[in-house]
Amino acid sequence: MHELGIVVHVINQIEELSKKNNVNKVVELTLEVGEVSGVVKEYFVDAFEWAKKRTEYMKDCKLNLVIIQGITYCEDCKKTYSTTEYGKECPYCHGPHTYLVTGRDVMIKNVKVE
Ligand SMILES: [Zn+2]
Repeated sequence: MHELGIVVHVINQIEELSKKNNVNKVVELTLEVGEVSGVVKEYFVDAFEWAKKRTEYMKDCKLNLVIIQGITYCEDCKKTYSTTEYGKECPYCHGPHTYLVTGRDVMIKNVKVE
């Protein structure tokens, strides 16, 4: 399961930071999740709820997910468009020289501690 791997990675990062910064408790975590990151929100939340019970600092941590839209840029006509709507082919000039600008990653946006 793709989601669990990401959850474990994120939790490890935050646990390590908490230890370094003498944090007692992490109460809230906000993550930005790209629309085309392949993450299924429900699976991600389930994985997080399961994994947080095994942590030292995040047992009562609340999770917020902010979905970031997938945006693709076309090098041929210099326009951007929604990745989920049109995919790899540019809807304006039908050129194939496009690449994803945002929406692929899962990133830590905010961590609230006590
Ligand atoms: Zn184009």
